[in-house]
Amino acid sequence: MPKPCPICTGPQRDEVDEAIDARVSFRDLAARFGGTKDRYLRHRRHPRPPGPSGEASELANLLSGPLNIFLARHPHTDISLVKEALGVLGKAATKAFAASRAPAPA
Ligand SMILES: [Zn+2]
Repeated sequence: MPKPCPICTGPQRDEVDEAIDARVSFRDLAARFGGTKDRYLRHRRHPRPPGPSGEASELANLLSGPLNIFLARHPHTDISLVKEALGVLGKAATKAFAASRAPAPA
């Protein structure tokens, strides 16, 4: 069985794919992210995971406005706080979604 591609399964996949799209040379990719340039040549042909839907992108764009305002006011915010807030938002959205789908009271 062939070994899985370390780039596909690695944490820097998005950054590597963006660099490939920006036509960064394979030698520079290897210098920046480690490994050999052949690894990046092979990875280039691997299928990419599907991106977010248009609707999800639209919602993310709407939500990023208030987030940017907050980050401008609190420039030293830790990314873990943003992730925690997104978790809270996810729970609130689940509740709101359930409520909006609930049958109207008789
Ligand atoms: Zn790959």
